[in-house]
Amino acid sequence: MIISIASGKGGTGKTTVATNLAISLESDVQVLDCDVEEPNAHLFLNPSIKESKTVSTSVPKIDEEKCTLCGKCAEICQFKAIIVIGETVLPFPEMCHSCGGCMEVCPEKAITETGRELGVIERGNRNGLDFVHGRLRVGEAMSPPLIREVRSFVRADKITIIDAPPGTSCPVIAAMKGTDFVLLVTEPTPFGLHDLTLAVEAVKILGIPHGLVINRSDMGDDRVRDYAKQENMPILMEIPFDRQIAEAYSRGSLIIEVMPEWKAKFLELYDHIKQIVE
Ligand code: SF4
Ligand code: SF4
Repeated sequence: MIISIASGKGGTGKTTVATNLAISLESDVQVLDCDVEEPNAHLFLNPSIKESKTVSTSVPKIDEEKCTLCGKCAEICQFKAIIVIGETVLPFPEMCHSCGGCMEVCPEKAITETGRELGVIERGNRNGLDFVHGRLRVGEAMSPPLIREVRSFVRADKITIIDAPPGTSCPVIAAMKGTDFVLLVTEPTPFGLHDLTLAVEAVKILGIPHGLVINRSDMGDDRVRDYAKQENMPILMEIPFDRQIAEAYSRGSLIIEVMPEWKAKFLELYDHIKQIVE
């Protein structure tokens, strides 16, 4: 079972739900924090990190001696990541998607691969819970390859909880694609509703079963609930605004640590998800 926890926008409580769900399940769980631009699940889980590795992607390197300035590499590149200007071929590694097209078409074999560092992957555990997260290099714009690398650690014998990045673009698609269930976390405000509708459209395109958690559910209005009804999307949990929860979050504590009665609610949430998936 792979559950991705997503939200149209940041700050809705996505990581709170992911980490509390994971710890409530106790065993055979792994958490993959795919929010590589701003990973924060480790602040709540406090895993002991055992392993760290740098992840790179291949980008073109030009041998000017061999290059005849034919322009074929620039023609094939859909991302304008390599251009011919005057007497020079200029690659833009930060824009390169590492498709290898330019290397394939170069008639002079003047293009070879070199590495561009994307970030690091760190692995660890907490009382039997497997933990993996990625940290995107500062200044790096291409997060999907690092997210895919984090996802390569999915284990079939575990319940996998993926903390997806916020938003609705390529990074969140890379985190949600191929998962069994998407749990969308939102808050009942106009901004929450706006970004939720975008996230739901993306999940519908991917064809993944999904449900909703409403955080700070006693604030705002009923428009998120009306939208969920209209979309036939189950509301699987509501977390009210609570001073104890807010204080726990600000200290890096889990809800179930300060309010143990919430553990049963997170287990119930998992049971609901399981029923929907099955
Ligand atoms: S590897 Fe692909 S994306 Fe990168 S420069 Fe070559 S053609 Fe463009
Ligand atoms: S395809 Fe090869 S030979 Fe042609 S411009 Fe690009 S690098 Fe030079």
